[in-house]
Amino acid sequence: MKHGDLLVFGASSVVTQVDGVAGDSLVVVDGKIAAVGQERDLRAQWSVKKEQDLSGKLLVPGFVDAHTHPVFAQGRAEEFDWRAQGMDYLEIAKKGGGIYSSVRAVRECEESALLEKVILHFEWMQEKGTVACEAKSGYGLSLDAELKSLRVIAQASAKTGMEVAPTFLGAHMIAEEFRDRPEAYVDLLCEEMLPAVVEEGLAVAADVFIEEGAFSLAQGRRYLECAKDLGLALRIHADQFNELGGVQLAVELGAQSVDHLEALSDAGLEALAMSRKTHAGLLPAVPHFLRQSMNAPARKLLDAEVPYFIATDFNPGSCYTASLPEAAHFARVRMNLTAAEALWGVTAGAADSLGLGGRLGRLAPGFDAKWVALDIPDLHYFGYRFG
Ligand SMILES: [Zn+2]
Repeated sequence: MKHGDLLVFGASSVVTQVDGVAGDSLVVVDGKIAAVGQERDLRAQWSVKKEQDLSGKLLVPGFVDAHTHPVFAQGRAEEFDWRAQGMDYLEIAKKGGGIYSSVRAVRECEESALLEKVILHFEWMQEKGTVACEAKSGYGLSLDAELKSLRVIAQASAKTGMEVAPTFLGAHMIAEEFRDRPEAYVDLLCEEMLPAVVEEGLAVAADVFIEEGAFSLAQGRRYLECAKDLGLALRIHADQFNELGGVQLAVELGAQSVDHLEALSDAGLEALAMSRKTHAGLLPAVPHFLRQSMNAPARKLLDAEVPYFIATDFNPGSCYTASLPEAAHFARVRMNLTAAEALWGVTAGAADSLGLGGRLGRLAPGFDAKWVALDIPDLHYFGYRFG
């Protein structure tokens, strides 16, 4: 007999997402999955210290949210009414609202108070089955406030047990005090902020918002090349409202992901299909929240075998949900993904895009013992019941 710590048995099925690995039960040793199979077979081979009966629930990998903005001090619910009155994202930004109101709040917020907020946000994610997330700074836009934001991400991760891949997003928007000299802000990013972030080991990736009203393609390139030279992975917000060439830049620089893509053209799609490395980050709850009819062409991306993930884009301005099951629902409805495709997007695809696909996103021997037991009859129900 082999000795294990835990036998989890009685699932309607274990959705392993690994070919050739299947069953209704699994064994855990030292926090890792040691075996997956039928209960009878596992009981014949393993003696375990503890058992857990799943009573017919569906066992799926713990969710991974590969695009979140959890470091903000307060919600922006009043803007939700402004949108109802017809103002769009860029108009709200031009009014000095939008991202800048979050920036003012984060700059004024004490680090300890900001930490409490981020802990709360991670707990919201955990309530919905998220075991790991990518977490961006980006509401500081100054050296001090960005470093504070990244420190708080690390502290909240330690307090909550949420595994985090931290991303520096000092290039979320040109800081307000640099609006009339944006190149000077890019200088600040490249010469002071990126080196400080790397020096303190506070981020594993850098991100930039390439969009009209935010960063131009040339500014994005300059910043991303600096980040890459410093050893950071790259994740990029591009093609949300306008196609400026950010997708081709992402592919050229070997970015981990390029996210949004609501305005993606066939040329951009072809670049991603040729790459097979840069993930398409699908954020299907965002156009819903922004009352837009446009969606990223997910069906075409999947048919072209572009690696992809589905994320919440959790943030106070354009997607106030921390729920990946909710994002999966919108992927099914607005992008015509199947339940299996949606589940892949919030598990294996997301983990792969973060370089964590060897440990997270699948339930098979060698992977972390992190799962969600869903009280649904079968996989077709995933993303079906919403809310
Ligand atoms: Zn985002």
